[in-house]
Amino acid sequence: MTSNIASMQAVKSLRSIDVSGKKVLIRVDFNVPVDEHGNITDDRRIRAALPTINHCIDNNACSITLVSHFGDPKTPNDPKFSLRLIVKRLERLLQRKVEFVENFENSKDEIAACSLERVFLLENIRFYPGEKKNDSELSRKLASICDVYVNDAFGASHRKHASTYGVAEFVPVKVAGFLMMREIEAFAKALESPVRPIALVVGGAKISSKITLLKSVLGKVDKLIIGGAMSNTFLQALGYDMKASRFEPDFIETAKEVLAEAKERGVKVYLPVDVVITDNVESPVDVKVVPAQDVMDGYKAVDIGPASVKLFSEAIALSNTIIWNGPMGIFEIDKFSKGTFKIANAIAECYAYTIVGGGDTADAVDRAGEADNFSFISTGGGASLELLEGKILPGFENLDKAERA
Ligand code: ADP
Ligand code: MG
Repeated sequence: MTSNIASMQAVKSLRSIDVSGKKVLIRVDFNVPVDEHGNITDDRRIRAALPTINHCIDNNACSITLVSHFGDPKTPNDPKFSLRLIVKRLERLLQRKVEFVENFENSKDEIAACSLERVFLLENIRFYPGEKKNDSELSRKLASICDVYVNDAFGASHRKHASTYGVAEFVPVKVAGFLMMREIEAFAKALESPVRPIALVVGGAKISSKITLLKSVLGKVDKLIIGGAMSNTFLQALGYDMKASRFEPDFIETAKEVLAEAKERGVKVYLPVDVVITDNVESPVDVKVVPAQDVMDGYKAVDIGPASVKLFSEAIALSNTIIWNGPMGIFEIDKFSKGTFKIANAIAECYAYTIVGGGDTADAVDRAGEADNFSFISTGGGASLELLEGKILPGFENLDKAERA
């Protein structure tokens, strides 16, 4: 049986087609984090798209149109969600002019007027209500401004939207960009022929969406290391009272099932033995380290404790492939960042193949100063997790297949 990853790797790559004289539409993921003043805090996603854009410029595409979403606007044309915000950074990174297109239907003729090396950036595609509905009308309109569709938005490839999926149905040539191919290759290395033991380190706060996934990955990993708010749910399931901690009462049963299935499959599970607790997350004055069994009334577990860091680090050091998604605590707050940063150090120091995915986790690895010490930093959070689950991502599904040699 072909695995989900192998079938995604079988898509046609931009490398194998000729773009000269063609109007190319590239779906990129420019959904970068910005601070409250609208400053871009991390441009990794823009930089990750450059090889694909530059390839099209260098190979004489007649026009290049970039499409992306940016945040999740509830009303069209909210300036807070305008991609105009990234034009300057993109121009600096590409070292060329980028023409911002407010309404691509009005600018159709301009995009069609083939003049070499022009780069257009369309306004936030989620300003169109049809985008998230995968509306075929919008897909057709996008298709009408190009001859070639390149999907390079790995971070959005788990979405079945007009610009990530639907548009491909109406374009004669549709291929994967270099980032898509690089990401899938990195995950293939970790999942298709991993050097064992393989450890999955999970944490973070998106418990409901991630915990069900844990069941499906038990067949792929040897060790499951759990921290963050995710581990609170498991500790509660073991019968410890996590008091005011963040956990999901509705998923206690799922946690029990994960533990039972792990036991059956011989997967080793590591949970925190101690936790950092506080009664006030926003202004943490009273901060203590206690055994996981001893969380006090009114207190919240907000990070893993030093004994857990040691335990997890030893389990990590004995692994040869490590995939990490989800911070070990509320790392955005200094006092609760130690667990996450030390686990980042432990994974980085390992002589192993190491992948980190997820917006917040990648940010934590950056802040820990370890960004260069991981084998691969994925631009996809949700997308990388769905890969682990064994799904075929919609962003790959509609693309042309590579011709077999
Ligand atoms: P990613 O973006 O890497 O996929 P998530 O979005 O699932 O990760 O989780 C990140 C968030 O989890 C962070 O904002 C962090 O503050 C939060 N978090 C981690 N541990 C805890 C905890 N014990 N209690 C509450 N929030 C937590
Ligand atoms: Mg997140």
